[in-house]
Amino acid sequence: MVDVEKIRADFPILEEKVYGKLLVYLDNGATAQRPLPVVDRMTEYYLKYNSNVHRGVHYLSNKCTDANEEARREVQHFIHAASEKEVIFTRGTTEAINLVAYAFGEAFVGEGDEILVTEMEHHANIVPWQMLCERKKAVLKVVPFDDKGELQLDIYEKLLTERVKLVGVAYVSNVLGTVNPVREMIARAHAVGAKVLVDAAQAIAHLPVDVQELDCDFLAFSGHKVYGPTGVGVLYGKEKLLEQMPPWQGGGEMIREVRFEKTTYNELPFKFEAGTPDFIGIVGLGEALKYIGKIGVAEAGRYEEELLHYAQEQMRQIPRLRIFGEARQKASVISFQIDGIHHFDLGTLLDQMGIAVRTGQLCAEPVMQHYGMTGMVRASLAMYNTKAEIDKLCEGLRKVEKMLNV
Ligand code: PMP
Repeated sequence: MVDVEKIRADFPILEEKVYGKLLVYLDNGATAQRPLPVVDRMTEYYLKYNSNVHRGVHYLSNKCTDANEEARREVQHFIHAASEKEVIFTRGTTEAINLVAYAFGEAFVGEGDEILVTEMEHHANIVPWQMLCERKKAVLKVVPFDDKGELQLDIYEKLLTERVKLVGVAYVSNVLGTVNPVREMIARAHAVGAKVLVDAAQAIAHLPVDVQELDCDFLAFSGHKVYGPTGVGVLYGKEKLLEQMPPWQGGGEMIREVRFEKTTYNELPFKFEAGTPDFIGIVGLGEALKYIGKIGVAEAGRYEEELLHYAQEQMRQIPRLRIFGEARQKASVISFQIDGIHHFDLGTLLDQMGIAVRTGQLCAEPVMQHYGMTGMVRASLAMYNTKAEIDKLCEGLRKVEKMLNV
């Protein structure tokens, strides 16, 4: 079992007060908090070892370089990649998807080809594909979800033809919390020769991820959603595919030899890592994965699932409250609305009580359109949240109802 009190002690922000009230942080889907070991390790590197990676021959540079490559192995281990060459550091999920949309698109997508995404994707897994389709005169197709928030797999089957070059799908929806059956979807896509990119931004801290078991071609996630720092993320890609893709950004580090006549490129993973990376952020990300690895993602996920069920049960007691997303497999996210109360008012009044939730379109306008909503309120959980905090949220919601007299 997860020792929540022990975990909470590693996150000093959870003892902060806002407007004189103890913080209840339920916006983990937007960004999780960082534990002391991550901040301490980064501070240590800033204060003692700060130096650019891969370029120096001196002690500090080697120290940072080694720490970065150790972090890469930590990621490899965490997602069960076959080789560290398959782990590319990016600025986050968004940059990872843009990298694939560009480089995979250049190598493999042409006029009339199709890219398939789902109706529940975050904008980061929609817009880069639209840009690619515009560039290549390819066509973007969409797999819809039903009102429970589950993908309509029969339509997915129908849309999967040999024209489809790539499927982009969220492992966990950032609005509906749906855990999509990505393993089966990947197998189906491979049967028609399509590749699959899994957006694991909302999965990485809540479900064990094994890229070899999933057999995904690409997988993306952000450090800041898995208790690591902002500004750093990961693109996993199968080595064979990455080898066939041209570089995305040009600059230092990604080259082997630069000549005005012809430049040659570095080997993997550096071919896709132009310029100075956030090398201390990368050290922090490695530490974050070590941290959650010790607790166990599966254990954390089981605890969060219990909390999610408790929260949904409690929230369903509020008569005018509607939860969006009732999928059988759901993780860590509850989006909702109270009839007659604007989502922004709800979020603002909860904030006054020290409760941090997200409101608005949640970077998923198509999901809003599906339900005919202008916005929602989202509570998203992490392994340090408690039932007592859920009780405070529900108490807060009831207070808001009373205040606004609905
Ligand atoms: N995909 C999903 C499912 C997300 O939830 C998010 C972040 N909200 C992103 C992509 C984008 O992540 P980032 O902003 O860290 O690049």
